[in-house]
Amino acid sequence: MHNKTLSELSALLHNGDITSVELTKHFLNRIKTHNGNLNAFISITEESALAQAAAADKQFAEKTAGKLTGIPMAHKDIFCTKGVRTSCASKMLDKFIAPYDATVVEKIAASGMVMLGKTNMDEFAMGSSNETSFYGPVKNPWDIERVPGGSSGGSAAAVAARLTPVATGTDTGGSIRQPSSLCNLTGLKPTYGRVSRYGMIAFASSLDQAGPMAANAEDAALLLNVMSGFDERDSTSVERDVPDYTANLNDSLEGLRIGLPKEYFGEGLSPEVAVTIEAAIKEFEKLGATVKEISLPNTALAIPTYYVVAPAECSSNLSRMDGVRFGHRCDDPKDLLDLYQRSRGEGFGDEVKRRIMIGTYALSAGYYDAYYLKAQKCRRLISDDFQQAFEEVDVIMGPTAPTTAFKLGDKTDDPVAMYLADIYTINTNLAGLPGMSVPAGFAGGLPAGLQIIGNYFDEARLLNVAHRYQQVTDWHKQIPTAFQ
Ligand code: GLN
Repeated sequence: MHNKTLSELSALLHNGDITSVELTKHFLNRIKTHNGNLNAFISITEESALAQAAAADKQFAEKTAGKLTGIPMAHKDIFCTKGVRTSCASKMLDKFIAPYDATVVEKIAASGMVMLGKTNMDEFAMGSSNETSFYGPVKNPWDIERVPGGSSGGSAAAVAARLTPVATGTDTGGSIRQPSSLCNLTGLKPTYGRVSRYGMIAFASSLDQAGPMAANAEDAALLLNVMSGFDERDSTSVERDVPDYTANLNDSLEGLRIGLPKEYFGEGLSPEVAVTIEAAIKEFEKLGATVKEISLPNTALAIPTYYVVAPAECSSNLSRMDGVRFGHRCDDPKDLLDLYQRSRGEGFGDEVKRRIMIGTYALSAGYYDAYYLKAQKCRRLISDDFQQAFEEVDVIMGPTAPTTAFKLGDKTDDPVAMYLADIYTINTNLAGLPGMSVPAGFAGGLPAGLQIIGNYFDEARLLNVAHRYQQVTDWHKQIPTAFQ
């Protein structure tokens, strides 16, 4: 049951072969069996899941059910869920029960899907390994001594182990695509503004974007259909029609122009991952695509630019966690300053503190021009590189991450080594472009993802490209042995 696609599950439900309550119990049981090992979920919402499933079954009886009605899913614990703890994997919000639903949560609930629980993540989405969570690290189902990637590591592990058919993630610098790569999933970060950020706890507001994490491109398309769209409660949400992302999945790739940025295949890329990606590109040539080398000359600026912009924005966004308006409050404060200092000192973990300090410094008077303003200029150069590339090619391909999953603890003492895990994903966020990761094979027994980057609002094309590839390969069907 847990190996079926969303369309297959939908057919079973609509034919009456299974009820949503049965299906929901099946996944809840899988979570109970495996979560102890994986730590993929922070909260399991069994009671409300069963109530939602019963409501879905009523819709089937009344013949008002839609395509996704009754199918279970999970939300990253960064999305506000009314009446349910929304922790962002921080001690700061360990006791925060959101008073409202994020737009993404509302839309998915309106489609009739059933929320199984909230998934683990890096604290406030800062990390690439899911080791900064207050609730402990998530384990990679392909090898539980390794990280699942981050920050959406709980969603990635949960889908990879088939504890849920699909999950939501968010991507500020790679947090949907990098864990998808490390866990053998199909994950898509949409164009900035495609999906509402309302009710999604802000990390770096000009970069954050939510998207689907799934086993295959068709499932990702179905979930994106429901997540996308204009929202007047998010001032950066774009008023633009949402196409049916499943409509063009089968379009031919004949004549598709693929660009391979030479900067993505240089030093730092694991030779084994490179071999996997090169083999994937060959498949696209067989499907009728043409391939040419391109250049994104400012790629080297991406990490330094991001690590000014993202901390600057997070230092501002996280100022609301002060023990007064939001978040953990220390015991017996002496005065207001003591309240702020101890509440924030106790509530935030080390990586979050590091980012707040970097961001506060970069934004301070006297340094603003040298850092933040300069970073904004670099950001423009990075966007311009892409626009120039898209004059010659339709999509850009390369590795999602430089390596496969690394061992837990391997990079925790070296923030810069950790930051480099996103070297191929971060510039897409800086430019606001859509990108996805697609299972492309195994290197040393561990999954490696192919990244596909498109121009603004080209999600349908990315999904089409991924789907055609998945019709001629079966990497995406591989499930770690212990979870079959
Ligand atoms: N790993 C990057 C960071 O630590 C990106 C995280 C994300 O996309 N949320 O900031």
